[in-house]
Amino acid sequence: MSAPERPQFCPWCGSPLPFEQHGHEPRYESLAKEARARGADPPRLPERVEDMLAGESYVGACPGCRVVSHVIGHRA
Ligand SMILES: [Zn+2]
Repeated sequence: MSAPERPQFCPWCGSPLPFEQHGHEPRYESLAKEARARGADPPRLPERVEDMLAGESYVGACPGCRVVSHVIGHRA
């Protein structure tokens, strides 16, 4: 298994940008937890959809355009 590629440039202005790895649970997990907290029982997503939505995420604040970017690194 190869490591996902770490983004290195600001997607907005193209400046070199040192992204940091940003660990958080995938969005679908948060949503499922919220639904269960309300007493609902959400169906699980198909595994390949979860794979697509998971992945490593990175965050970087651009010194050039001052945009904070969250980027998901996809496995090649
Ligand atoms: Zn920028």
